[in-house]
Amino acid sequence: MNKVVKFGGSSLASAEQFSKVGKIIHADKERRYVVPSAPGKRNAKDTKVTDMLYACYELVEAEEDFRVPLMKIKDRYDTIINGLNLKLSLEEEFRKISENFKNKAGMDYAASRGEYLNGMVMADYLGYEFVDAAEVIFFDEEGEFDAEKTNAVLSERLLKAERAVIPGFYGAMPDGTIKTFSRGGSDVTGSIVSRAVHASCYENWTDVSGFLIADPRIIKNPKPIKTITYRELRELSYMGASVLHEDAVFPVRKAGIPINIRNTNEPDDEGTWIVESTCHQSKYTITGIAGKKGFVSVNIDKDMMNSEVGFGRKVLSAFEENGISFEHMPSGIDTMTVFVHQPEFEGKEQAVISAIHRLAKPDSIELEGDLALIAVVGRGMKSTRGTAGRIFSALAHANINVKMIDQGSSELNIIIGVSNADFESAIRAIYDIFVETQL
Ligand code: ASP
Repeated sequence: MNKVVKFGGSSLASAEQFSKVGKIIHADKERRYVVPSAPGKRNAKDTKVTDMLYACYELVEAEEDFRVPLMKIKDRYDTIINGLNLKLSLEEEFRKISENFKNKAGMDYAASRGEYLNGMVMADYLGYEFVDAAEVIFFDEEGEFDAEKTNAVLSERLLKAERAVIPGFYGAMPDGTIKTFSRGGSDVTGSIVSRAVHASCYENWTDVSGFLIADPRIIKNPKPIKTITYRELRELSYMGASVLHEDAVFPVRKAGIPINIRNTNEPDDEGTWIVESTCHQSKYTITGIAGKKGFVSVNIDKDMMNSEVGFGRKVLSAFEENGISFEHMPSGIDTMTVFVHQPEFEGKEQAVISAIHRLAKPDSIELEGDLALIAVVGRGMKSTRGTAGRIFSALAHANINVKMIDQGSSELNIIIGVSNADFESAIRAIYDIFVETQL
C-alpha cells in the first residue's frame, strides 16, 4: 500500500512548516511519494516564490538586471535549508538557473524552478530520492498533457524508487523544454503520480481542513464537508468554490483513487474525502452551496414558440455566432430565457439581440442584468422529499425574490437565480435552513 502526499505552498513556506510536513510524512510509512509546491506566503504580505520567479523572468525578457531578485529567491531557500540544519547547497543550481535565464529558457522554465528547488530541499530533508518531473511528466507537440506516455514512464520509474519526491507543476515538451500546468498545477501532478503508483489514497495537504459547506466570507465558520463525490465537487467548483485545481480529479478518478484534503496545521482533522461514489449520506441533505454574481438573463417571447421546431437552436446559434457560451436555459410555453455571463455578454448585447431577431424572429426580447446564480448541491436530494420546498420557503422568509429555478433530472443540484444584491442573504438563508436549524 502506498499514499501520495502533495503539499501546497503555504505548507512549505518556511523551515517551521517543513518540520510539520516532515512529521506528517514520518507518521505514516505508506506516505511514500511526495509532491511539493514551491514555497508560498509566510504571512499575508509575503510573496509566493512562483510569483517572485515570474517577476524575475520579466526582467530577463526586458533585458534588465535580474541578479538581485534572483538572489532574494535564493535567500528564501537558504533560510529554509538553514532552519532545517541541512548541509545542502543550492549554489550550483542557482548558477545554472542564472545561465539558463541569460539564454532565455522561457517563462515556464523560470516558474518551474520554484517546485524543482523545493523538491531538492524536500528530498534532502526526508532522505528520499529526487525524481525531476521533466523526466517523467510529458506534454505533446500541442502542449497538451500526454497522460498515457506519462503514466507508462512514471510508473516504471517509481517502481524503482522505494520513496521519492517528485516536484509539482511542470513537465517537459517533446523537445525537452519545460512546460508548466496552469497556476495551482501541483495538485494535478499529485493526481498523476497517484495514478502511476496505484496509490490507495491521494492526500492533498493545504491550509484548510477540507471543503466547507459554504464560502466562509459569507457564512461565519461554516461546517466542513466530510465526503463529497467527484460530480458534486465539479458542480461546486464550477460555481466558484475552490480548494483544488479543477484538472486534478481526472487522473485519480480514472483509477478510482480517493482524494483526501487535509490541513498541515491541523493534521488530526479528518479533512474532506473526495470519492467516486459513497453510501454515506451527508448529515444535512445538501452537500454544499456555491454561487457567482454577474449574470444577465435574456428573455425571449414568441407566441406559439412551443410548436415551432428548431426555435431553441436558432436562438442558441445567435449566441454561438458571437462566441458566447450560455449557463442555463429555463423555458416556458411561449418564453425562453438564456443566462449568460455579464462581462462576456455586455460588449456584444446588441449584436446578439439583432442575431436573435434575424434567426428566430421572436416577438420581444428583454434583458435583465446584475443577477446571481446559486447552486445548492447534494447527492442526498435525490432521496429526500421537500428539499426544493425548504429552499424556497427559506428564501421567501428572507424576503428574497427568486428569478429563476433550474433543476436537472440528475437531482444533484438546484440552481437559483436572484439579484446580485440578494446573493449573500440568499446563501445565508439556505445555509441556515439546512445546517443551522436543520428544519
Ligand atoms: N507554485 C505554483 C503556483 O503558485 C503551482 C502550485 O502551487 O500548485 O501556482
